[in-house]
Amino acid sequence: MQALVFLLVSEDRSDGALDVLESISKGLMREVCAGCSTAPSRMRFDPVEGQARKAAIANRMASRKEGSRQERVTLTRAIATGLATPRGFVVYHMDGDVVWAKRKKSAAPDRLEEWVKQPVRQLLAAKKGNPAALLAKLLFVCPFYSIESWLYQNGRVAKQLCSAKCGGMHVRRIDSWETDRGLLDEVDRPKEAICLGDEYNARLAREAFPFGEVIGAGKSLAATRDRFAGCNELVEGLKDTRDQVPSGSGARRGPR
Ligand SMILES: [Zn+2]
Repeated sequence: MQALVFLLVSEDRSDGALDVLESISKGLMREVCAGCSTAPSRMRFDPVEGQARKAAIANRMASRKEGSRQERVTLTRAIATGLATPRGFVVYHMDGDVVWAKRKKSAAPDRLEEWVKQPVRQLLAAKKGNPAALLAKLLFVCPFYSIESWLYQNGRVAKQLCSAKCGGMHVRRIDSWETDRGLLDEVDRPKEAICLGDEYNARLAREAFPFGEVIGAGKSLAATRDRFAGCNELVEGLKDTRDQVPSGSGARRGPR
């Protein structure tokens, strides 16, 4: 069976941003479809590269310079191609940039529409297929306030790292986020709240991240999970990745 293909796009300029997005995507897909396989034979993750990678970085999207416009065209084409690919999806990360309680004031949904969906829709209209159906395969990942609002929920790893880095000055704060999973979405600029910055993001995302507990808080990770679950083509594709009974075994096919 053909693997599902995910083009990864992030506004985050840091080196590990797309590794983080891959780990988060896999975790969410396991939440959406229990038993789905994220093995490389079933799923492929393609980080967006070159000019398109640059274009997605937040301040370049807003830039009116000619070079930035060219980069945006490259990104738009990459996204449209990703969506038009059979069993292809695009995972797009943009921060909410406000706390969850103020989510209605976030510019992210309008930016996604204006910077990404509109140009992609125009491009898709010129191709075969239904643009709306293809755009439904764009999976929007939107943490409030930022990706650290999710990653610092990995208390076990975060506390180890904090102890090694600063002698554990932030362990109590991290503990409080573990005790009440709804707190961290309400922290303004979480990256400045403890000593870890974004240096360890890939590890925090990869090592036993508590997806179920954080989703249980019903805030921005839950909203992103719900968007994944709302994509029928993704849900059907994920079901196909489950380990199946080998066909032709004939176990249930004999005469009754
Ligand atoms: Zn610390």
